Amino acid sequence: MLPIMADTALMPIPGALDPVPVDRPGAANGITPRTDGRIDLIGLTRQRIAGLFAEAGLDPRQSKLRAKQMFHWLYHRGVIDFAGMTDIAKPMRPWLGERFVIGRPEVVEAQHSADGTRKWLLRTADGHDYEMVFIPDADRGTLCVSSQVGCTLNCRFCHTGTMRLVRNLTAGEIVGQVMLARDALGEWPKGRMDVAEEEDAAEYRADGRLLTNIVMMGMGEPLYNFDNVRDALLLVMDGDGLALSKRRITLSTSGVVPMMARCGEEIGVNLAVSLHAVTKEVRDEIVPLNRKYGIEQLLEACAAYPGASNARRITFEYVMLKDRNDSDADARELVRLLRAHGLPAKVNLIPFNPWPGAPYECSSPERVRRFSDIVFEAGISAPVRTPRGRDIDAACGQLRTAAQRSPAGQRPQAQAIEAGTTVSAVQPAKTPLRA
Ligand code: SAH
Ligand code: SF4
Repeated sequence: MLPIMADTALMPIPGALDPVPVDRPGAANGITPRTDGRIDLIGLTRQRIAGLFAEAGLDPRQSKLRAKQMFHWLYHRGVIDFAGMTDIAKPMRPWLGERFVIGRPEVVEAQHSADGTRKWLLRTADGHDYEMVFIPDADRGTLCVSSQVGCTLNCRFCHTGTMRLVRNLTAGEIVGQVMLARDALGEWPKGRMDVAEEEDAAEYRADGRLLTNIVMMGMGEPLYNFDNVRDALLLVMDGDGLALSKRRITLSTSGVVPMMARCGEEIGVNLAVSLHAVTKEVRDEIVPLNRKYGIEQLLEACAAYPGASNARRITFEYVMLKDRNDSDADARELVRLLRAHGLPAKVNLIPFNPWPGAPYECSSPERVRRFSDIVFEAGISAPVRTPRGRDIDAACGQLRTAAQRSPAGQRPQAQAIEAGTTVSAVQPAKTPLRA
């Protein structure tokens, strides 16, 4: 039996100053924690599944074959019940069911915005809540995926930043969001694996239509949960499974410089960077991680990002905060910085999405337009992101789960980003940052 939070390991984040080791449930074995003793197969590689089958008693050849079949059923077909796996011998199906499960995040609440955006409040098997958002557009459908329950980073304009970090999500809980979205959108291929024998091949659809893109822009800082995010995204990209192209996946970071090169090398997805300010004074205030990894260091890491090119530009996110970072001079400085570093860049201007007690206001539409024009006239694309799902608090930076809510507007103590501080993710936050 796997007790909850068993096998937790502390993940030291690389970097001389970076002191944010956080609990990684299941880190030692990559398995999502459950109380019933069965092992959740979601989030595991074929090799890991084969290993578990061998441990459970299958011979090596059988283990490998069954793992291959299982992978197809899990990630290509989206089957959630062993009984439906028609090419696996009948007596073996209950054997599997006694030992393993095909997990999905539990849906606590599903909301629909007037603009078509959908938000799901999800719960882990050990009772932590987090959120996932689907944003349909005419030509694409984007799933906004969470990487952590809460966040250590306390960006001052972000509602998630008012939560403490509860824990990292496992690879299974991250890829599980994509699978759940496919369930909800009805996008698994129809029909059976042995389609030729039993039914009309026309019923078999190779892939989904609505969910086309993934952004790691939900709750949490993905580069502070690197291993699990990487393992989950490799599953999402696996050609025998969900098979989403890396070009359709974007990972957004607030600027965890030491992890950016590995992100490019080991995951290879598009990078978005939450820049949000062009001076040390302002960025230190609104993205406190800037005190550790400053703007210059961040932009150098962007210039070195593996795979970035004019065809695959880095997105710089810039939240528009009234009278804080939205002047003409700010826009010009932004252009100068991007040019000085020779960055293949596009800028994404995000109107600030309000939340109760937020210490900022959104810039006026005229200001946003003027800012966009200045950047655009310098030859850098600078579209303004249309807020989506504001009526159900699903827009950027509005995600925050009720279970963790503190009195309106009250921020918890900022969590440790000072040198030498150790955070255990399951304990209350400690070191005040803004001393
Ligand atoms: N932690 C990562 C990814 C999640 S946040 C990061 O910070 O990049 C996704 C994007 O939403 C980030 O660019 C973030 O800065 C932005 N954001 C956060 N709060 C916001 C708010 N209230 N209004 C608009 N954008 C916000
Ligand atoms: Fe965390 Fe990103 Fe929100 Fe900052 S903007 S608090 S890094 S989720």
